[in-house]
Amino acid sequence: MSNRTPITVAHGDGIGPEIMEASLHIIQEAGAAIDIETIEVGEKVYLSGNTAGMEPSAWESLRRTKVFYKAPITTPQGGGYKSLNVTTRKRLGLYANVRPCVAYAPYVDTKHPGMDVVIVRENEEDLYAGIEYQLSPDVMQSLKLISRPGSEKIVRFAFEYARQNGRKKVTCFTKDNIMKMSDGLFHKVFDEIGAQYPEIVQEHWIVDIGAAKLADTPEAFDVLVMPNLYGDVLSDVAAQIAGSVGLAGSANVGTAASMFEAIHGSAPRRAGQNLANPSGLLLGGVMMMVHIGQWEVAERIHNAWLRTLEDGIHTYDIFAEGVSREKVGTKEFAAAVVARLGQKPEKLKAISYAGAQSERLEWVPDPMRVLPAVEVVGVDFYLGSKNQAPQAFGDELQKVQNEGLTLKMIDSRGTIVWPGGMSETFVIDNYRCRFEAGGKPVSHAQIVGLYQMVTAAGYDIVKTESLRTFDGKPGFTLAQGQ
Ligand code: NAD
Repeated sequence: MSNRTPITVAHGDGIGPEIMEASLHIIQEAGAAIDIETIEVGEKVYLSGNTAGMEPSAWESLRRTKVFYKAPITTPQGGGYKSLNVTTRKRLGLYANVRPCVAYAPYVDTKHPGMDVVIVRENEEDLYAGIEYQLSPDVMQSLKLISRPGSEKIVRFAFEYARQNGRKKVTCFTKDNIMKMSDGLFHKVFDEIGAQYPEIVQEHWIVDIGAAKLADTPEAFDVLVMPNLYGDVLSDVAAQIAGSVGLAGSANVGTAASMFEAIHGSAPRRAGQNLANPSGLLLGGVMMMVHIGQWEVAERIHNAWLRTLEDGIHTYDIFAEGVSREKVGTKEFAAAVVARLGQKPEKLKAISYAGAQSERLEWVPDPMRVLPAVEVVGVDFYLGSKNQAPQAFGDELQKVQNEGLTLKMIDSRGTIVWPGGMSETFVIDNYRCRFEAGGKPVSHAQIVGLYQMVTAAGYDIVKTESLRTFDGKPGFTLAQGQ
């Protein structure tokens, strides 16, 4: 049996093929023991009519090798094309997206010379579930899903990452002052799991002020863990302020497979000109070599790359007069790294991956967990507004009742408009109408009966949500002003 590791490689679109060629050249010259299976994904596959951007044979390769080295790809705009990146992450269960953002001052210009943060982004849920509905001619809805298993997996990953990499602090960003239930769960899980890592400093910031602090004083942070959307946005910001989006690599880690890439996209305007910086993809490749246990190779590449930066050999995106020595293209940059394999940086800190392990944490449900008692206590119907003002709409709808299920309130975009609405509140063409039975449990038959009565009275029920309590605590929020 060969001791070489099979990996699946996609060369991508735009600048993808150039930076992948450069990165693979360096990785192979560094002595990587890998067998490459090349797959075609992305723009060409999309435009051939495959809306997922990936053929079944490509999935087979990924499921066989379980290691995916992927150059950026272009998702064509419109036409119902699904993002291949999001699909791959979710279908293969790549729940942790690890994005180190490091400053290389004074060799790469940055306002934050001491910056060295790792963003651990949740990768499978949140608004990236992509579950969206059109409720009316005027209203679109996107579901934000945050689960306990999803939060536990990513938060534990962040703490384990910190522990294994000698990091001192883990900071969580959420917006749980507004999204008390979804972001609130993420924050709660952070506190629960954090208690098992007493040696690591822990803090939580509301994402808006946390993002401002990160952009202003990134030195204040170490490892950051956050839900998907915040992590997506802030890892680009962090990479850019560290020096360039072209410098950051990323690992998408799951228990069954992993994917390694640059954080940036396919930069189509730079394609085909031997201009692009291959560093982000190369550092993604370094993370891959650590992941497959070839840490000596990872170390050799990383240190040669640091030495290249230090020697002032820079692509256009990080080139600065007075700091850089030579402006080079993609190929020349790769050749400069290859020429330095075996060397270490002299001023920047050399990297050591000796004994590095990659995290492959299985999520196991807590066997002691007692599930809460669930009761249904009402229903929310989303109704078309019939172009009626809220007061008249509510007064009329109130007449429809079924066995104690009565209209409790109506809101528009989460703000109460009946009873006692304010004339200043702007309303849209869709109302959420809440029926409850005075806090008492209700049966599905009661709700179905009410459903029929509401439609029989001429209302258009667009969407239904049942209202539940969990151990007596409401599993739904009140409307603003309720
Ligand atoms: P982008 O990251 O491709 O480019 C933004 C700008 O950053 C470029 O114009 C360029 O100036 C600079 N840049 C990016 N990478 C660079 C590099 N390696 N070297 C030098 N400069 C670099 O973002 P975009 O323009 O918003 O997206 C272009 C396409 O990429 C879109 O189709 C998008 O869907 C796709 N995309 C793919 C991925 C991925 O495959 N993981 C990620 C993000 C975007």
